[in-house]
Amino acid sequence: MRRRLLLGLTVLCALVVGVAMPALAWHESRRQAREAAAELALGYALDVLHRSDETSRQAQRAIGLLEQAGHPPCSPVELTLMRELDLTSTYLQAVGHVGAGRMLCSSMGAFVFDLGPEAFRTSRGVAIYLDVPLGEPGKSPLIALQLGRYAVLIHRDLPLDTSTGIPGVGLGVFQLDQPLHRAPDLARGEARRAWVSRLGGATQASFADGGYLVAVVRSIHYEIAAAAAIPLAYVDERARAIGARLVPAGVVAGLALAAAIGLLAKQQRSLAGALRHALRRGEFFLQYQPIVALDSGRCVGVEALLRWRRATGELVGPDIFIPVAEQSGLMPQLTRRVLQLVEADVGRFLAEHPDFHIALNLSAADLLTGAIDEALDGFMARSGARASNIILEITERGFLDMDAAQPVIAALRMRRLEIAIDDFGTGYSSLSYLESLALDFLKIDRSFIEAIGTRAPTSQVVGHIIAMARTMGLRMIAEGVERREQADFLAMQGVQYAQGWLYGRPAAFSEVVARYREAAEREVAG
Ligand code: C2E
Ligand code: MG
Ligand code: MG
Repeated sequence: MRRRLLLGLTVLCALVVGVAMPALAWHESRRQAREAAAELALGYALDVLHRSDETSRQAQRAIGLLEQAGHPPCSPVELTLMRELDLTSTYLQAVGHVGAGRMLCSSMGAFVFDLGPEAFRTSRGVAIYLDVPLGEPGKSPLIALQLGRYAVLIHRDLPLDTSTGIPGVGLGVFQLDQPLHRAPDLARGEARRAWVSRLGGATQASFADGGYLVAVVRSIHYEIAAAAAIPLAYVDERARAIGARLVPAGVVAGLALAAAIGLLAKQQRSLAGALRHALRRGEFFLQYQPIVALDSGRCVGVEALLRWRRATGELVGPDIFIPVAEQSGLMPQLTRRVLQLVEADVGRFLAEHPDFHIALNLSAADLLTGAIDEALDGFMARSGARASNIILEITERGFLDMDAAQPVIAALRMRRLEIAIDDFGTGYSSLSYLESLALDFLKIDRSFIEAIGTRAPTSQVVGHIIAMARTMGLRMIAEGVERREQADFLAMQGVQYAQGWLYGRPAAFSEVVARYREAAEREVAG
């Protein structure tokens, strides 16, 4: 049932990933296309604004210089100046002298012509004529800007002469002090004055409106703004083009990920199968690592560590197979096997050495099922071991389901078995469960011992853990002690026990006991 559920979940997971990756790729294509189009639109709008700014600057300069010169109206000397200004102003078609709405003379010569109807007047008093009747009637390409006695003529397409290369792009120039319902002052294609209101107080804005992706920019020199609008149809087309590259990559990535998930799940399943097989064929064995008292340096016990040698000869570490056993519900069986192995390894040793202890690792499942009780009883009865010979190590994961773990731990302690919290500080440690559970030992995790005397940010943590354990009356075992300085530091801080390569690597029980006996004999002799 459980296996079927896992298989279902794996397939679902693989399917979700398989579909999600192409969807993400499509989403990314749209995002990229939109971002690129927004950037293009902004570039066009800035170009139009630059041209408009330059036109206004040249008009202002020409009129200013004519005013300043103060030559008699339409005198040869004024006409010469007008021609000079016309020649040096790239955006101006003509510069002239105005009277009663007519150009009296200009850089084009001394002939008189009408400026047409005045369209509006800006807040700075510049009169704008949008339809100067020169050339073909009704199709005048010229507009006039008049300030006081002078006016300039501008070709209406010049400020908009930005090459875009995209069909249907709209460009527009707007006087900011004109009402929003008015048509744009200059426009090529779609341009709406209402877009200007999207600027708010900003100098530029990008948004989508009425089938266009729009960019609007405001001049910092004049009361004008420019806009560029790219049709959304073009953006969609670009998204499809980018998608044609990205989506297949997304499909491949999705399939690869889905396959990887499937493979991993299969491997886990096959590993669980192999574990069951290994239990039947007796492929597990134990190694024991000495635990020493820091004050005397004497070995006071060992920790039993499980090993798996596969039929192929490959040695698999507990870091790999314990999580698989936990996930596939095999842990109680494995713990029972550990007790059988301990029994076979230690024989009557514990019965003869009541002060020597053996530490056994338990998993959360051992506490939840409560089956550990019975297995321990059998072990103690047959080996003659006392409760004082046994320490049970539980990692923080074992306490996750507090309500279930608490009575089991209390019952074990009632029987005078001692309990250690293993790998302290690496998991979900919260002080609250330490306080609510009565424990005997705290094993300080290797990562904090490693940091002693280094500049690692965790180097201070060990001091806090020691202080806390002391306050709670817990005895401490430091894990992973590899260097003499670490041992000295820990002894100075009042840590009672240590375990690590400095004192011995995990080895067969007989080997550890031989060393233990040698040391005891040396002590007697010395
Ligand atoms: P643990 O209980 O914290 O065991 C200590 C681990 O640190 C062991 O790794 C040991 O070989 C390693 N170690 C000891 N001293 C040193 C040292 O000085 N330096 C370094 N670098 N490492 C050191 P191992 O044997 O690979 O075990 C890993 C974990 O697997 C154990 O961590 C324990 O949580 C779990 N485990 C092992 N055997 C059993 C078992 O029978 N039952 C359960 N439930 N878990 C077990
Ligand atoms: Mg342990
Ligand atoms: Mg540990």
